[in-house]
This record gives sequence, structure tokens and C-alpha cells, in this order.
Amino acid sequence: MATTTKSVFAFEEGDGKDKQLLGGKGANLCEMTQIGLNVPPGFVIATSACLDYLAAPEQGLPAALMEEVRAQMRAVEEKTGKGFGDPDNPLLVSVRSGSAMSMPGMMDTILNLGLNAATLQGEIRATGDARFGYDAYRRFIQLFGKVALGIDDAVFDTAFEAIKRAAHARQDVDLSARELEQVCERFLALVREHTGQPFPEDPYQQLELAIQAVFNSWQGKRAVDYRRQFHITPEMANGTAVNVVTMVFGNRGEDSATGVAFTRNPGTGENRLYGEYLVNAQGEDVVAGIRTPKPIDRLADEMPEMATALAELRDKLERHYREVQDFEFTIERGQLYCLQTRNGKMNATAMVRTSVEMVEEGVIERERALLRIAPDLLEQMLFPRLDPGVVAESVAQGLPASPGAASGIAVFDADRAEQLGREQGLKVILVREETKPEDIHGFFAAAGILTSRGGKTSHAAVVARGMGKPCVAGAEGISVDVERREARVGLTRFREGETITIDGTSGKVYIGAIATVEPEFTAELSTLLGWADAHARLRVLANADTPDDARRARRYGAVGIGLARTERMFNDVERLPIVIEMIVAETPEQRQDALDRLLPLQRADFQSLFEVMSPNPVTIRLLDPPIHEFLPDAQVLEREIADLRALECGARGLGVLAGAMGLLHAEDTLRHEVDRARRLVEPALVEEAIAKKEAMLRKVRLLYETNPMLGHRGVRLGITFPEIYQMQVRAILEAAAECAKAGIEVHPQIKVPQVCTAQELRMVRASVETIHAEVAERYGAPVAFRFGTMIEVVRACMRAESLAEEADFFSFGTNDLTQATFSFSREDAENKFLPLYNQSGILQDNPFDVLDRKGVGKLMELAVEWGRRVKPNLHVGICGEHGGHPDSIAFCHQAGLDYVSCSGPRVPVARLAAAHAALAGRP
Ligand code: PEP
Ligand code: MG
Repeated sequence: MATTTKSVFAFEEGDGKDKQLLGGKGANLCEMTQIGLNVPPGFVIATSACLDYLAAPEQGLPAALMEEVRAQMRAVEEKTGKGFGDPDNPLLVSVRSGSAMSMPGMMDTILNLGLNAATLQGEIRATGDARFGYDAYRRFIQLFGKVALGIDDAVFDTAFEAIKRAAHARQDVDLSARELEQVCERFLALVREHTGQPFPEDPYQQLELAIQAVFNSWQGKRAVDYRRQFHITPEMANGTAVNVVTMVFGNRGEDSATGVAFTRNPGTGENRLYGEYLVNAQGEDVVAGIRTPKPIDRLADEMPEMATALAELRDKLERHYREVQDFEFTIERGQLYCLQTRNGKMNATAMVRTSVEMVEEGVIERERALLRIAPDLLEQMLFPRLDPGVVAESVAQGLPASPGAASGIAVFDADRAEQLGREQGLKVILVREETKPEDIHGFFAAAGILTSRGGKTSHAAVVARGMGKPCVAGAEGISVDVERREARVGLTRFREGETITIDGTSGKVYIGAIATVEPEFTAELSTLLGWADAHARLRVLANADTPDDARRARRYGAVGIGLARTERMFNDVERLPIVIEMIVAETPEQRQDALDRLLPLQRADFQSLFEVMSPNPVTIRLLDPPIHEFLPDAQVLEREIADLRALECGARGLGVLAGAMGLLHAEDTLRHEVDRARRLVEPALVEEAIAKKEAMLRKVRLLYETNPMLGHRGVRLGITFPEIYQMQVRAILEAAAECAKAGIEVHPQIKVPQVCTAQELRMVRASVETIHAEVAERYGAPVAFRFGTMIEVVRACMRAESLAEEADFFSFGTNDLTQATFSFSREDAENKFLPLYNQSGILQDNPFDVLDRKGVGKLMELAVEWGRRVKPNLHVGICGEHGGHPDSIAFCHQAGLDYVSCSGPRVPVARLAAAHAALAGRP
């Protein structure tokens, strides 16, 4: 397909804002060039050319495109004064991928392109450095062989290692020029063996094949998996651009170096250049972890002028991008080049700290400080760390590459991690010598990553940090044996399946599992969330059932409890027997007796929730689940009854035997034994136990429901057993009155579950008011309360107007409302058909996870609109799981809700998401 529009842009002319067309890296190279940074000359081939090519790859690259490429190469030749393919002064280039969304390491890159037998000699003559020339050439043949010619990397690695061994070289730099020349010859022979063709000599042919290979890598498995995992849609990034950049060399001797750096520390957020470099090395050496690099601070001693230049570069980058940058640089013979920059991926702690500090430094304003952090990221800050009270000896020390602590079983390759972690649901720690992009599926499945080589910017470190998983990198004391599936650390070793613990905050590695503790809320996070609250309209409440939950939620900034599930208070060992007595009671008196004993317990529960949350509202939901859930299982009961019957039968048999023995004048000792056995089992007691169990079984069968989730639960239960709700309401109002008496400000809210008609609500309300009057009289003062309803069945949405007449507030229970709207069982759908629905695109998301705006959301909008028609100040919120998810929170904001209520650990996420929702659409 011929391209007619311009597809290739010099760095001086490309639009630095157009990432869709030029890819993130290409756009940045253009922007960096245009703001005056020292970027090696080059050009970008647009993503549109990638899509055109991929539509018909068999036709190769269009001639018109290659014409543009040639024209741009001529311009680069002019800028550098070198010639592409010129043996006397050769121009070498890198060919790099780069799409609109950053996909680190997922697509291919080729370096040193333009080398062939002739230009190599030119390069050696120009630099006077044969070692350097052969080193560059062998790297090029291997990369080109792998990426453009499809030869397995291991083919080259094995040959390289063999030559290294023969030369007794420990590291790559120990090889001489002659030995590297041998490597090149061997590599060229390998290419011929594997492709049946000689290695392509013509630089333009090399370039064409390389561009094609980079385009193809957009559709490679790694890239496709990555996009799927991170939900990168074609609207976000479509096709990769190709960046052709003049090579600059960090491996030209002791005055050359290469490195990667962040403008601020991506692990802690500290406002200080953070990174690593290697003297006399090329870029991929730093990232691949082949040699352990030096911390950037050392540069000031080794190359003071370059350290100053780097500090200037850092300031320029941050001032221009107003964002922490992750950049690559190369020093070639005392000249600093910036090769790439992008927004730094940081963990949550660093994101929060840099947000707050950049506002304080006047680099960005508060809105930007909030919007640059994805709300979900904050959950990372609530990561566990090793319990400081536990004394444990670490077995190895590596670099603290990504904070947080994790225990899990050791696995030594990514496939196994996927198998045990993803498929079998085990917690695994992926242990590798070093990781590569093709290990990405292992990262997804692992709870943490441990490598024995590489620095804090190695692949393992960068990827783990991006995912917020703990990582210890470069633990050099560990030697990994993938074949034998084990690792040795000094005299100890651990095998696959053995539990280890890594602490990505300290870099320590332990054998065995170590307890972890909840992290603390940092001062910066409080500041940031304070700004978030000031922008948000939605208030964030918590779902909490215990004083501990409530305390934590409050610490995380919840301004009340939006849902306290009272059934969770029934399940403790002290109460369950009383609850069961209440359920199996045969007479109203028996039931009342049990309820009378539950009342003070519930009152104490509510009182402590009120105290913890004062002066914020506490919303208590009356009993919801079907009561048979509190009773024993029918099958278990049947088995127990059968066992008791067998015992009874045995006891009777012993009685008969004893009688017979008397008649037969059996020996005393024998008679004595039989008597003793008889005394052990008292038939009357066994009978009594059987009778009790049978009564229970009858009750269980009576209460049995084929479909309990749609059955006798919620308000239906409250209407058929009114004394249960009466007890709970009394406990709530008395607890509130007790608090008020003690001078504690309380705002109790009572809500009724599973309501579908106004009549249900009216009946419950009447009973609440009667009890309220009684309590007020007894305490001598009424306690104000609010009465509301859950909205979790479809009919409740449809009857919102009449429900609003009875309710002060609506609380959407979107767990049940989703179940009811889809007719998908919330118990079963997620492990039966939903995964397939998601994979095949029938449903984009799991609706129990991400609020279904089109169906459930539509019902909510109608209910809000109709409810407020009757009661304009009707207070409306959500308390289903969706209340803690940013996308659903954005919807709740748009739908005009007043609050969201979510589990405690999601509260910080929800606060930030509420601010994002309010700020959305602002310029
Ligand atoms: C809901 O249905 O969304 C809800 C909060 O109630 P539960 O999950 O307890 O049924
Ligand atoms: Mg519910």
C-alpha cells in the first residue's frame, strides 16, 4: 500500500505532543531536540506507517516510505558529517520501537546498525580502537540476528560463553580485540547456518529489515500480552513508531559511560537524582544487569564535569515536563547526550511524596498533583511490611528495588510461576538470576521478585516497581540453578516449593515465612488526601462492622460508616448459640428470651461503633441474610444423628450382653469390663441428644430454600419475625441514647435491606418509631436518627418515588443490584462463565468489579432522579463493592450521589478517586 502523506519526521520537525502519531519515545525525542537538549540526530517513522505495513506485511515496506527514510538519512549524514555505509567515516544508528503508551521492553530495538565488514574497519580506523569496533559488531550481529532474522538468542549466548570460557574471561570486558573478532566470525557463521544466507551487508537493506522487525514486534506475543494485561486499547495506542537515532557510544573508553536515571528517587520520592551508570559500556549493559552498575553519586568523583552537566539536564527536564522523568544518557568522550526521557514510573509512596513536594516547590499546582496519581496506586501504600517484632536472620542481601514484603514459595522460571501462582492460586516468589521481558507473565503471577544480578534499574526492578510488587535485585550471594530448581546461599539452599520471604524495602532475603504488619499512613499522604477532600463532592464513608475496622477506616479518612452489616456480629462463639436458640424457638416466649439476651450484646456493639466514629454518622443495616445460614448443615446433622444411633444401638447391645453374662456365670473380670463399657454410654442421654439434633434437622429442613439469595432474607425476614428487627432497632437507639447521655455526639442511621415495596418500609418504620418513642421516654430525651433503605432490587429502583416518601436516604447495594439486573448469581458467576464472557469480549469487565454503567448504572440514575422528585434533599450513596473502585466512583459522582462507602483499605483510593471525578473535564 503506497503512503501519500508524510510518514517520517526529523526530530527538529515532529510535533512533540503527538504521541499517537510519533509514539511516546519519538515525540519526546522531537520535544527534547526542540527545547535544546543534546539529543543525537535522528528521525521518527510514524505509527501510521506501522499500521499500513501490518495491513499487508507480505508486501514489505512501501517504496515511498523507504524514499522518505533515505531522504532523512541523508539529512542525518549532513548533521553528523558521517556517511551511512561510508567505510571511511561510518554513520551507525539505533532502530528503536516506541508506541503511544509506554511498554517497557515489550518490543524490539537494534543497535549499531550500519556495521558491516567494511564500515567496521572504518570505525576501527576512526577510533583507533579495534576492541571497541569488534565489540560493537558482535552486539549488532546478535541483536539483528535475533530481532530481524529470528535466530534464537541462546544460539549466540552459548557461542559467546564458550569463547569467554576458552579465554578464561570472567566478564565481557575481559575479552581482547582478537577474541571479540573471533566472536564476530563465529556469529556470522551462525547466521549463515541458521538462515542459509550471508549476513546482510548493505546498510539500507539492514535498515529496511530492522524497521520491518520493529513493526512486526507490535504484534509479537510479548507486546500483545502486555497490552491485554494493562488494558491498552487501540484508542490508547495503535501501532509502534520507529526511531532511527545516530549511535553515540558509552563504550569508547574510560571517559565514556552510559546510564539511566530518575530525576527523583522512584522508590522514596526523595528530591535527588537517582540512577546508575557504567563506565565504558553500552546502554543495554545497565538495564540487562550483566554488570552491576555504580550509583549515580559516584559520578561526581569519577567525572565531575559530567556530574554537573547531568544535574543541569535533570533540572531542564523537570522544569519542562513538570513531571519526574526517567531518562537515559550516554557520555561519549566527555560529551553528555540525552537519549530518551519519559514520565518516571514510581511506586505509590514516591508518587505521593513527589506530588506534595512539587507543589511546595512551585513546580506544579494542587490539581495536577492529585491528577497525576492513579487512585488505585494508593493501595500500594497500604502494603504490608515485615513485622519489626520478629527477629529473623536474613540469608542474603540484595538491593531494595521495589518496596513491600512478601512471602511465598520459590519458583525459578516464569512459566512455573504462572502455573503455580495463577492457575493454582499459590503465593510464589519468582527467583531468577536476572529477568528479561519474556518473563513478564511470571511477574503477573508472582507476589514478589528476587534476582541475583542487576541493579535498581534492571528489568526486574523497573517492572516490579511499576506493578507495585516487592523486589529484591542483585542479591549476589544467591546462585540460582534453574535446571535443578534450586538456589544456593552460602551453605544453605532452597528448592522450588520452599517458602522464602523477601523485603523489597531493605533488600533482605529470608528462608521461611515472616509475619507482616500493616503500613502507616504517611504525612504526605494525609496532606494529599486533604487536598483531595477539598476538591471532591462525594464524601467517603466506610463499610465496617467492628470497632477495629471502624478505627482503621477513620484513620484512613472515612467520614462515617455507610454500612455496618449486623449479621457479622452474630457469628461469634458467644453469640451463635443464642442466635440459634432464637431461630429454633418453638414459642414466642422462647424467642423473646433469646432476643433479650442478644439485646445487650448488640447494644454494646453499636455503642462502640458510635464512640469510634463520633461525631460522624454510623449506618446500621438490619439483619439481611436468610436465618438458616446460622444453623448447622443438614448433611452434617444427618451424619451426627446416624452416629448417635449407632452408639445407642451399641449401648443396648452391651446391656443384653451383660444380662447374658450373669446367666452364664461369666468370669468376673470380663463382666467388670462390660459393665464399665455400659456405664460409659448412658442410653437416655444419647436419646436426648438424638431428639435435639432431630429437632434441629426439622428446623433446618423447614427453613431450607432452593434459592436463598432470592428468598427469605432482608426485610422479608424482618416482617415475618418482627421481634428480630425490633431487638436490633432497640439496641441501636438505646446505644445512641447511652452515648448521648455520656456527651458523645452520635448520628445513628438505620437502613433496611432488600426492600422492594413502600409497604415493607412503612411497616418497619412504624415499629422503629414506636421503639424510638419508648426509648426517648425512658432516657428522657429523644435521639435523632435517620431511616433509609438499601436499593438493591430492580423493583426498588422502579418504585423510587414511593420509597423516597418513607426514607430519608437511599443506599445502593450494587452487589445485589448487579446480581438482580443481570440475573447472574453473585456466588457463582465469577468462577463459572464470567471469565469466558470477559475473554471473548461479550462483557468488557466483570460487573461485580466494575459498575455496569449501561444497565445497573441506568437503574441507579432513574432511582436518583425519581427519588429526588419526591424528596429533593434525599441523601443518596452506594455501599456495594463498587463504592471503592475509581471508575465506579466517577460514575457515582456524575449520577449525583452524595457519598460512597467502601472497605477501610479502599478509603484512601476512594478519596482520591472522588477528587478525580470532581476534577474530570477541568482544563
Ligand atoms: C450489596 O448488595 O451491595 C450490599 C452492600 O449488601 P451485601 O453485599 O451485604 O449483600
Ligand atoms: Mg446486598
